Amino acid sequence: MSRALEAARATARRLEAAAPLNAVLHWSAAELEAEARRADAQAPAGALYGVPIAVKDNIVTTEAPTTCASRILEGFVSPFEATATRRLRAAGALIAAKTNLDEFAMGSSTEHSAFGRVHHPLDPALVPGGSSGGSAALVAAGVVPAALGSETGGSVRQPAAFCGVVGVKPGYGRVSRAGLVAFGSSLDCISAFGRTVADAAAVLAAMSGHDPDDATTIPEPPLAPPVARADLRGLVIGLPREYLPGDLDAGVRAGVDRAVEAMRGLGATIREVSLPHARYAVPTYYVIAPAEAASNLARYDGARYGVRRLGPAGDLASLYRTTRGEGFGLEVRRRILVGTYVLSAGYYDAYYRKAQQVRALIADDFRRVFAAGTDLLFTPTTPTTAFRAGANTADPVAMYLADVFVCAASLAGIPAMSLPIGRAEGLPVGGQLIAPERGESLMLAAAGALEAALDGTAEVR
Ligand code: GLN
Repeated sequence: MSRALEAARATARRLEAAAPLNAVLHWSAAELEAEARRADAQAPAGALYGVPIAVKDNIVTTEAPTTCASRILEGFVSPFEATATRRLRAAGALIAAKTNLDEFAMGSSTEHSAFGRVHHPLDPALVPGGSSGGSAALVAAGVVPAALGSETGGSVRQPAAFCGVVGVKPGYGRVSRAGLVAFGSSLDCISAFGRTVADAAAVLAAMSGHDPDDATTIPEPPLAPPVARADLRGLVIGLPREYLPGDLDAGVRAGVDRAVEAMRGLGATIREVSLPHARYAVPTYYVIAPAEAASNLARYDGARYGVRRLGPAGDLASLYRTTRGEGFGLEVRRRILVGTYVLSAGYYDAYYRKAQQVRALIADDFRRVFAAGTDLLFTPTTPTTAFRAGANTADPVAMYLADVFVCAASLAGIPAMSLPIGRAEGLPVGGQLIAPERGESLMLAAAGALEAALDGTAEVR
């Protein structure tokens, strides 16, 4: 039996055993074996030969349905393949499963899925984070070594932190969005999860690079896998004081302190810096992302994709109203309403235009700090460890605040990642590295050095 076929069969067994997590929306043993045969037919074998990779179900593949965890896309199978998954397959990877998510990637806990919530692999009462919670949980549970997620405002870094795995958001335009179902088009980035920095970096490298099917991709060849470094000598790491508030969760604080000591031990110069507009990141994100979502989601009208409900009056307006009313979940409807409101005449200047102005200030904060000699920034990824299911569902603002440390880098379009830096009361704590534009390689190399110097699973309190 080929190595790819062996990997396919072992993955199928693990997927079966992982069913209680509810992390998967679609997989089949037969498709996995077909993937292995396809990889075996490639010569020479690619860099990811036989590596099973799970894919968030808002990235289109032609063999499987794509649901975005929404009723409105029930039965939809894409006629074309995403550039990212096409490139992973070309590198020999096996697309193993389509993973559960918050509906249309809107959420921070994977509780807003039309197909039920995803359970945290360490404790089923907890959430895995979101919106790429299914991918994060599968990697954390050891079902696959790597997975794809998508980031609009933290949806890979935040679940990576909650689940104790690595999550890497590249800079905007580094990976093609062709085949990623649009949420906030100026923010969306296909991103990678891995058990290790090297695994996530290899996946990112394989899918990166210019793509004629996405005019916003950076006109550069694919990223080279980062050159490993043994230390951080010569690097200045900035700690933004706005990301280390006095009331930060004690376990998260202990993890950050230990990671900072480790970076110092590796020879980095640690410097306090300031990003004065950081506190506006969440409100800015929650104007811009819903505005773009309201526009992008207008295409689900009952006529073009998936579900079609004619409605009582039998006319066009009734078709739209009934299909959208029944097809979209509560959080998606909330985003469409907010987005439509902030774009409407009379409110556009007060909300949408203002948010765009503040977005520019947030990006300037980063530019200024990097221009002044800071190579990378280090922050906690999340304000707390994984929370209990139901804890934030009644209060959308409480849920949105789970993104307080991750959405600024999304608004600025710069690379950022989370890696495990320890555990507090048994639960993973994530540390975030943020890099300047086109700084993916430096960021990944520094993360690799930190990962090697720290036991990411050790108790920190
Ligand atoms: N949690 C954020 C939201 O709900 C981010 C989502 C994402 O990055 N896809 O919009």
